[in-house]
Amino acid sequence: MQLDNLYQEVILDHYKRPQNKKLSANYDAQVHHVNPSCGDEIDLNLTITDGTISNISWDGVGCSISQASVSILTDLLIGKKIDEAYSIFDHFVALMQSKGTVSGDEAVLEDAIALAGVSKYPARIKCALLGWMAFKDASVQAQSKSKLD
Ligand code: ZN
Repeated sequence: MQLDNLYQEVILDHYKRPQNKKLSANYDAQVHHVNPSCGDEIDLNLTITDGTISNISWDGVGCSISQASVSILTDLLIGKKIDEAYSIFDHFVALMQSKGTVSGDEAVLEDAIALAGVSKYPARIKCALLGWMAFKDASVQAQSKSKLD
């Protein structure tokens, strides 16, 4: 798989120095997602406070794309309002499903733009999306829980 060199560096940097990779003891929702086709696994804990994503922490094993993608996600989404986070989520999923036809908006995606090239490699898209799908799942659970409180 050939990605732009600069993008490759961003991915490797997150893979080697992952952000927020230590599961927090407190959370509103905890999920475990796997990508069997590659062997990637992620546990993700999420806390939402007053409609804002106040914490995302995770642990995982797997390929550099899957692990870097979730590290990038935590950097990008912590501190965002849930609606804004969903809009970024939709933008990223559309980029991944674009088969390389969409370049993505760096102002929206920040470091996640480095994963744009992955959309040309169907076998790796699930790797890039693993942490994002885990986030979406956890956010739905956290919000349904907060409605019950
Ligand atoms: Zn993978």
